[in-house]
Amino acid sequence: MLTNAPKGTKDTLPANIYKWHYVESKFAEICKKFGFNEIRTPIFEHTELFTRGVGDTTDIVQKEMYTFKDLGDRSITLKPEGTSPSARAFIEHKQYAEIQPTKYYYVTPCFRYEKPQSGRLRQFHQFGIEIFGTGNMMADSEVICLANDFLQEMGIDNIELRINSVGCPTCRKKHREALKQFLEPKYDALCDTCKVRYDKNPMRILDCKSPVCQELVQGAPLMIDYLCDDCKESFEQLKQNLDSMGISYVIDPKIVRGLDYYTKTAFEFVTSSIGAQGTVCGGGRYDHLIEEIGGPPIPGVGFGLGIERLLMLMEANNSEIPTPEPIKAFIVFIGEEAKFFSQKLLRDLRKAGIKAEMDIHARNVKGQFKYADRLGAEYTIVIGENEISEGSVSMKEMATSTQKKVKIDDLILELK
Ligand code: ATP
Ligand code: MG
Repeated sequence: MLTNAPKGTKDTLPANIYKWHYVESKFAEICKKFGFNEIRTPIFEHTELFTRGVGDTTDIVQKEMYTFKDLGDRSITLKPEGTSPSARAFIEHKQYAEIQPTKYYYVTPCFRYEKPQSGRLRQFHQFGIEIFGTGNMMADSEVICLANDFLQEMGIDNIELRINSVGCPTCRKKHREALKQFLEPKYDALCDTCKVRYDKNPMRILDCKSPVCQELVQGAPLMIDYLCDDCKESFEQLKQNLDSMGISYVIDPKIVRGLDYYTKTAFEFVTSSIGAQGTVCGGGRYDHLIEEIGGPPIPGVGFGLGIERLLMLMEANNSEIPTPEPIKAFIVFIGEEAKFFSQKLLRDLRKAGIKAEMDIHARNVKGQFKYADRLGAEYTIVIGENEISEGSVSMKEMATSTQKKVKIDDLILELK
C-alpha cells in the first residue's frame, strides 16, 4: 500500500521520460511560433473559481474535484483544468490593460476524481492554449489550427476534427425550452443528477455519462438548429476560415463539452485507435468566463490536450520519438592514482559539453567495462599510470572494438 502510487496516478520513470520531454519541447516550440507565451499558475486555487468558472452543474464540479479545507479553513481545490486558472491570472494581473489579444500556453497536471481506466487518470496532464481579448473567429481558427498542426507534427493522422456551435445565452434560452419540453415525458427515468440539471441547466443532460440518460437524449433538439444570427454568422466564419486553411473537419451537433463556460465554437479531436477514451483534445470559445469569475467582459477561446492520450496515440501510430543521446565517452580507470586523474578528466569532458560517465561505484576494470556496455557508451577511454605519464590514452569504439591512441590534450577535440 505504502509503496503503491495512489489509484489513478502514474510514475514516469527515467526510461520513458524522453517521450515527455520530446512532446513538451515540440509543444512549446509550436506555441512560440504561433506567438503564445507560457503561463504557470498554482496547482491549487480557491474552490469557488471552479464552481463559478467550470459551472456547478457539471460532472467536474459535482463529482470529480479534489477539494479540501486547508489549515486556515479555506476551501481549496486541485486544478481540474487549466482555463479558469489562466483566466484568473489574466484578471488578477490586469493583463487586459496590455495590447490585446493575450495569448497563453501552459503545461499542467490536472486532478479529477474519476474512475481510472485506460486513458483516464486521476492525475493527468494537459497542454493548453488560451486567447483572451477577441471575439473574432480568426482566433478560434488559430486555436484549432495550432492543435491540428501540432497533432500532425506528432505523426498523427488517424484523428478527426469535429466542430459545433453551442450558441450563446441568447439563443440557448430557446433551445433550453425545447430541450425541457422534449425531456419532460422522460423526466422520471433521468438519473438523480440530471433531475436537478433539468431545472438548473438541461443542456448538461446531453453530456451525462449514464447510459440510461444517453439513451433518453437520443433525438433531442440540437443547439445548432437554434443559433441566433450572430452565432450562425460566427459559425459560418469559422468554417470558411478552416476551409481556406485546408483544415478538414466534420460538423458534430452532439458536441456539448463537459464545462459550462463554452459559447459558440466547441470542438474536439477524436480518434478510435486508443480505445474508449478517444478525445485527445477539446476546446472552444468562452465569451463569459472572465466576467463570470469577476473580471471585465472579455471573450476567450482555447483548448486542452491530454498528454497521456497523446502519447498513447503516438504509440499506436508508431510515431517517431528521438531517443536520448547516448553516452559519448566512458572513462575506465586502473588504480588509485588514475581514479583521481579520471574524475578530473571526466569533469573537463562534461564542461566541454560531452556526455561522459565513469563508474562511481568503483568496480574492478572488468566490471567497469561491463557497466560501460550496459550504459551503451559509444567510446571507452582507459586510463592507468602509464597513460598518465605518457599523456595519451587508448580510445575504444564499443560498437566496432577498434582502438586508437589519443593524446589527452586532444581528447575533447577527438570526441567532438
Ligand atoms: P472526456 O470526455 O474524455 O471525459 P473531457 O471533456 O472531460 O474528456 P476536457 O475537460 O476537455 O476533457 O479536457 C481536455 C483533454 O484532457 C481531453 O480531451 C483528454 O485528452 C484529457 N483528459 C480529460 N480528462 C482526463 C482524464 N481523467 N485522464 C486523462 N486525460 C484526460
Ligand atoms: Mg471528462
